[in-house]
Amino acid sequence: MTVKGPVPSSEMGISLTHEHILVDFIGADSINSDRWERSVVAEKAFPHLKQVKDLGIVTFIDCTPDFLGRDPLLLQKLSESTGLNIITNTGYYGARNCKFIPGYAFEESADQLSDRWIKEWEEGIDDTKIRPGFIKIGVDEGNLSEMHQKLIMAAAKTHLQTGLIIASHTGSAVPAFEQIEILKKEGVSPEAFIWVHAQAEKDPASHIKAARSGSWISLDGINENNIQDYLKLINNLKENGLLSRVLLSHDAGWYDPGKEAGGEYRGYTTLSDKLVPMLRSENYSEKDIEQLLIINPSRAFMIRIRKN
Ligand SMILES: [Zn+2]
Repeated sequence: MTVKGPVPSSEMGISLTHEHILVDFIGADSINSDRWERSVVAEKAFPHLKQVKDLGIVTFIDCTPDFLGRDPLLLQKLSESTGLNIITNTGYYGARNCKFIPGYAFEESADQLSDRWIKEWEEGIDDTKIRPGFIKIGVDEGNLSEMHQKLIMAAAKTHLQTGLIIASHTGSAVPAFEQIEILKKEGVSPEAFIWVHAQAEKDPASHIKAARSGSWISLDGINENNIQDYLKLINNLKENGLLSRVLLSHDAGWYDPGKEAGGEYRGYTTLSDKLVPMLRSENYSEKDIEQLLIINPSRAFMIRIRKN
């Protein structure tokens, strides 16, 4: 489900599964869309997205959640000007001690939060008619707090009604496996779960265990300086026959309204320019590369209910 409407998953093409165009860290109590000028942000992002398009990438998945600068109209404008499929999300981001969680969400139940997210799926975000293509939540390191347990429960309930995949900003293994357990209890398959920022977990056995359970391992902080580290992480999954559970991206961008002229914008080209050539030189087949760049994203972001 893109910001311009549904696209068959077979037409997603090469996809960047975790990127950002705009992120505002001011916090849920102060954020509002007057903090940025949509046309100024679009102008800054455009050349980077054009580069992405020129590299043959077809789909760009924007992981900025509500209360962190999610702006569906901005994404729609950029989708029109670049020709990229762009996907936005529903859900709330609990990491950083719930700074980006609106006040009412502390009082409401998982069912009530889920009702809000399902409404966005059914009717569109605010009055834009633009629908989310996945659920984005976020949790802190260590054992899940009560609030963060509620977020993953709400995500589970939303998944069962909508078929939207759950991408959770997670990091290390402890909160990853706690979330997977809650999903299973709620009747949701781990296949509906993207372990976002899995590269933060240094024990390779945890990636294998989660991937074997069916969950997606998102290695999503690729930059010029860490290609070798990513190669090791990908090799580990490949050697265990789990390349079909891996998602790759840069977590790059973005315009930050809290900084002068939006701050420094990091581009989205290292995967294509550096990592893919390195995979080829390491004897990854064209089929392996297609698996990583095209097949896995299309399977993950396909709208489909995955019951446990
Ligand atoms: Zn991110």
